[in-house]
Amino acid sequence: MTRIIDGKAIAAAVGNRVREDVAALAAAGLTPVLAVVVATDDPGATWYVRAIGAAARRLGIGCHVHDLGPAASAAAITGLLAELSSDGRVHGIICQTPLPPAVPPGLAAQQIAPIKDVDGANPQSLGMLAAGMPGAFPTATAAAVAEILDHEGAVLEGRRAVVVGRSTVVGKPTALLLLARNATVTICHSRTEDLAGVCREADSLVAAAGRPKLIGAAHVRPGALVIDVGISSVGGTTTGGVAGDVDTGAVTGIAAAVTPVPGGVGPVTTMQLMRHTADAARDLAG
Ligand code: NAP
Repeated sequence: MTRIIDGKAIAAAVGNRVREDVAALAAAGLTPVLAVVVATDDPGATWYVRAIGAAARRLGIGCHVHDLGPAASAAAITGLLAELSSDGRVHGIICQTPLPPAVPPGLAAQQIAPIKDVDGANPQSLGMLAAGMPGAFPTATAAAVAEILDHEGAVLEGRRAVVVGRSTVVGKPTALLLLARNATVTICHSRTEDLAGVCREADSLVAAAGRPKLIGAAHVRPGALVIDVGISSVGGTTTGGVAGDVDTGAVTGIAAAVTPVPGGVGPVTTMQLMRHTADAARDLAG
């Protein structure tokens, strides 16, 4: 039987730990503060920023949204990120995407000091993660995948893990976190030959391609843990549904467990962002 992993319950468990950490910091006179820089009116981004604010409030974390509007210039965005990086009252910084078309995302992220880069956006953070250096945060999504696998008791050491997707936001940092847990990691992408065959080698399979139903029965080894990171809109904007990368019906009875979409990786990602912000506040306080 295939278990559906309850991402909301895992997020609640992470939230409880963060709340305790935040209370301990507050007792020492420190309230963690997350700054969210927004330069878009994308509805998905607006929804996510609201969710971040609500989660921060519930946990006692300060959340300051800096909305520059969708026409913000590169100079305004990079200037604000640099200012926040040197502001001692701010502990975590994220720059919401999408950015205005004229602003290269890498340019903005490079202005976020790695110690405050709680969503692992600065390429320097990814480099530090790859080098196994302390002091850098992985992206919240990659941290969420690792958290779910840990929570599910996945045996990673010495076992095969396959990540479908090689983006700097999900695929690469996730692969690095699994490698750090001593898994034997394969990264797949759009040019991978025999995707199903490679995925079938996985004890832990992470799907992060953004292609609905890409992963079916032929991709899953019996007993594998399957983490579905994909979120794609389906059925048009009025009906508003989302789908993951995994054809859950097809893998039921083959996988040991699978995360649902929605209600799997998403809620855990938001909580990892909160955890990183509390950790950054503690690190900055020395
Ligand atoms: P992305 O930048 O578009 O990267 C997608 C990756 O998937 C690329 O590496 C691409 O390969 C690969 N890919 C695409 N089609 C494929 C195929 N048919 N077979 C094998 N690989 C294929 O997307 P992303 O930012 O990594 O996000 C991936 C998904 O996760 C999206 O659905 C996104 O919405 C979702 N997401 C979820 C969360 C969350 O918290 N739950 C957070 C972030 C993203 P190439 O490199 O060869 O093009």
